[in-house]
Amino acid sequence: MSKVFALDVQNHNIKWDGNIPSCLEFQDIFFQADVLSEIKYVYLDANNVSKRFKSGFDISIFEFGFGFGLNFLCTLKEWIDSKSQKKLTYVSVDNKVPTIQEIEKITDQFKSIDKEKELLLKFFKNVHNGINKINFDSVNVEFFFLVGNVNESIHWLNDFQKFDIWYLDGFDPKKNPEMWSEDILDTVQRFSRAGSTFSTFSSAGFIKRGMIERGFNVKKRKGFNLKRHHLCGETSGKIIKSKSSKRRIAVIGTGIAGSCVAYQLSKEDCDIDIFEHCSEISDGASGNPLAALYPKFNFLTTELNYINIFSFCYASRFYLFDQFKDAYFPSGVSFIDTNPNLSRWIEKVMQLNRADMFELKKNSSDALNNLKGAKLRVKNCGYVDPKKMNSKLLEPDNIKIFKNYSFIDYSKQKSKIMLNFKNKIHEELYDGLIIATGSGLCNYFQDLSLTKGHIVGIDISDSIKEPLNSNGYVLPKKDNKNWLGGSYEANFIDLEINHHECKNLIKKHFSNLNIEEKVPVNYEARAQVRTSTAEKFPIARRIEKDANVFVVGAFGSRGFTYGPIIGDHISAEMCQKMSPLPSSISRYL
Ligand SMILES: Cc1cc2nc3c(=O)[nH]c(=O)nc-3n(C[C@H](O)[C@H](O)[C@H](O)COP(=O)(O)OP(=O)(O)OC[C@H]3O[C@@H](n4cnc5c(N)ncnc54)[C@H](O)[C@@H]3O)c2cc1C
Repeated sequence: MSKVFALDVQNHNIKWDGNIPSCLEFQDIFFQADVLSEIKYVYLDANNVSKRFKSGFDISIFEFGFGFGLNFLCTLKEWIDSKSQKKLTYVSVDNKVPTIQEIEKITDQFKSIDKEKELLLKFFKNVHNGINKINFDSVNVEFFFLVGNVNESIHWLNDFQKFDIWYLDGFDPKKNPEMWSEDILDTVQRFSRAGSTFSTFSSAGFIKRGMIERGFNVKKRKGFNLKRHHLCGETSGKIIKSKSSKRRIAVIGTGIAGSCVAYQLSKEDCDIDIFEHCSEISDGASGNPLAALYPKFNFLTTELNYINIFSFCYASRFYLFDQFKDAYFPSGVSFIDTNPNLSRWIEKVMQLNRADMFELKKNSSDALNNLKGAKLRVKNCGYVDPKKMNSKLLEPDNIKIFKNYSFIDYSKQKSKIMLNFKNKIHEELYDGLIIATGSGLCNYFQDLSLTKGHIVGIDISDSIKEPLNSNGYVLPKKDNKNWLGGSYEANFIDLEINHHECKNLIKKHFSNLNIEEKVPVNYEARAQVRTSTAEKFPIARRIEKDANVFVVGAFGSRGFTYGPIIGDHISAEMCQKMSPLPSSISRYL
């Protein structure tokens, strides 16, 4: 990634003529009134999309120029109508991000794509520079929105991912030559499958010549409506798509790390066996009554900050899937400026001008009313019921859970992997193994640090409806208790409850919340361990050169932030697909 701050996105610079936007930068209209018919003619029909969606194979499409998402929405509609059981991968690149209001204003004119618009807008949140991945699991679509300079974004692709269809839809080549450079045409060639097709509204001679030089048979087709011509074409060679054989994958550990990897793999052609040494799932660090999902970032353009922001944004969309609705509460999260550092941070966050993500709460009528200082509310996030979430993640039919299996090590048997358990004999062979044993990762990495932490439950107030963050957090009620977090003990000998720590935690939060009561005698508490690397990067790493063995974890205090994107990344590595993390970042994991 070039050194831009991830949340500092550029919106379109638009002039409206009624409901038709034109781009001030390129002095060009985005589209004309009959745009849906034009999209169907120029992109869908010219690429034979309807027939190819019914071919019974996965399909991948790359679009240059997302604009306001109309090509995507029309393609999504065609995909849903095709009732394909396969997967559509749609990658789109743009250096500008449309606002939700702009997408709404434009799509409100086109009732035929209402359903698709609803789907997009539900998840089109917390968009940042870099790769934004949205999984529309209900319709088997994965959408990558690459935000950034086009010539940089193409380097976020990896050679695993090839494309069947290209939509070349930048502005007029004369006005926006960057979108039509030799590098871009080389990218189309390099990432095309045999039998790939392309189309563009343009009929420029240099595009025609460029595509012919790169092995495409190019056609000058009659243009839409009054337009004279447009270009389309295909690579020579037959479309070769083989049905891949199912892989068997073993995952060790049913915390958020193992559960997210298993869930993401369950969407691929895999059967997953997940092993847990306890008698129930998620009894380690991921077994707290509740956990908060909130952004913790600084304003640096470091890889660690990128991974923190990307992970937060990914997770905030991921947990919104319908199947997680009893396990995730998208309440928003408030930050209370209880110290000068937090005040400065809040000030800088507000300077980002991301009204879609952050707001200052001035006159609130809820529990925050008692509190002094600025109150920053982060809109698109919330809190998780960890055990419920992990059991939802492990629900797919192709995931089998093995409890009371205590993993010792593995051995390689040619290209397969065999597992060795302390208390069971298990003779199955696997194509891949993911070790996600939380603090157990110390067996693989000597320099991990372990910190003991408590989460304490007491009855504070029913009116706390969202996590309140300061130095630690106070969560809404579960089982009649508000849960307090934010205790850290570097030196500990066991996981017994340390009452001194618990009382200090309560005192700290009482002070933050201006509560003048004494620390209650009765409270509930749970102690667990956070596992971290010295550099604070999570781990998501292959540990065998010639075998699919990965280690995942060291999520520190951000397990529910890192889990979803890291799970997706590992699944992509295992299945040789496009990752939601560019290699410039994933190589630090
Ligand atoms: C007090 C506290 C509060 C926290 N609050 C938050 C929060 O609000 N938000 C947030 O995002 N994060 C929070 N965290 C951090 C978060 O809980 C962790 O980062 C996350 O749970 C780690 O997940 P994991 O899957 O890597 O490990 P774990 O959840 O520990 O899972 C590892 C699993 O592997 C199993 N296992 C281990 N060894 C073996 C073996 N040999 N064989 C078979 N199975 C094995 C374990 O039983 C366990 O189920 C908190 C942590 C603590 C301690």
